[in-house]
Amino acid sequence: MSKSAERRVGIFGGTFDPIHVGHLVTAVNARAALGLDVVKLVVANEPWQKVGGRAVTPAADRLALVEAAVSGCEGIEVCDLEIRRGGSSYTIDTVEELLRVEPDIELTLIVGADVVPNLTSWRSVDRLQQSCGLVVVNRPGSRLAGGQELAEQLAGWRYEVIEVPALEVSSTDLRDRAATGRPLDFLIPEGAIRVIAERGLYAQDR
Ligand code: ATP
Ligand code: MG
Repeated sequence: MSKSAERRVGIFGGTFDPIHVGHLVTAVNARAALGLDVVKLVVANEPWQKVGGRAVTPAADRLALVEAAVSGCEGIEVCDLEIRRGGSSYTIDTVEELLRVEPDIELTLIVGADVVPNLTSWRSVDRLQQSCGLVVVNRPGSRLAGGQELAEQLAGWRYEVIEVPALEVSSTDLRDRAATGRPLDFLIPEGAIRVIAERGLYAQDR
C-alpha cells in the first residue's frame, strides 16, 4: 500500500457515561479538520483514572449508548476492543491491537483540553508517541495553555490543536440531570436517550 493510500484513523477514547453532543461534535469536527477516514469512539472498560470514585455504569450499557448515538453517523464508529479485552483500559494496548490487525493505518489520538495535564501519567506514553499523532480540542471550563507552555506540556508528541464548537456539556452534569428528572433532550442523541429510558440508567444516582 502506498503512503497516500493509508487509512487515517482517529481514536477518541472515553468513559462515555453517558455519551453526549460534546463527544459527537468533537468526533465529527476532528474527522473533517484532519481528513480522517474514520473516528473510532473507544469505550473504556474500566477507566483506571476514575476507579475508586463513583460507580461507573456497566460497560455494556455505555457501549449500547454509544452504538445508539452514532448509528447512521458517517465516518464515526464504535470500538469495543477495551471491553472485550476486559480489566483496566490502557490506550497503548488498544493502539497496539489496532496496529496488529491493520499495520498500515495512521493513528491520531483525539483528546479534550481537560485531558492534556493527565497525558504524562498514561501508560507507556513514549510508545504511544511513536505510534500516534495527537489532536487536542478546546473544551469550555478547561483552559488550554498556549505556545511554549503547551509545547512543554506536550513534549514528545506530534500534536495539533483544533477548534471545535464550544459546548459546555459533560457526562457528570448529564448524570445529575437524569437523576433529578431534568431534560436530556438535544444534549444526548435521541437514540441514546431511548436506551437510557429502556435500561433505567442514571435514575438511582442520588
Ligand atoms: P465525565 O464528566 O464523567 O468526566 P466527560 O463529559 O468528561 O465525562 P469523558 O468520557 O470523560 O466525558 O471524555 C471523553 C473525551 O471527550 C475526553 O477527551 C474529553 O476531554 C472529551 N470531551 C468530553 N466532553 C467534551 C466537550 N463538551 N467538548 C470537547 N471535548 C469533550
Ligand atoms: Mg471526563
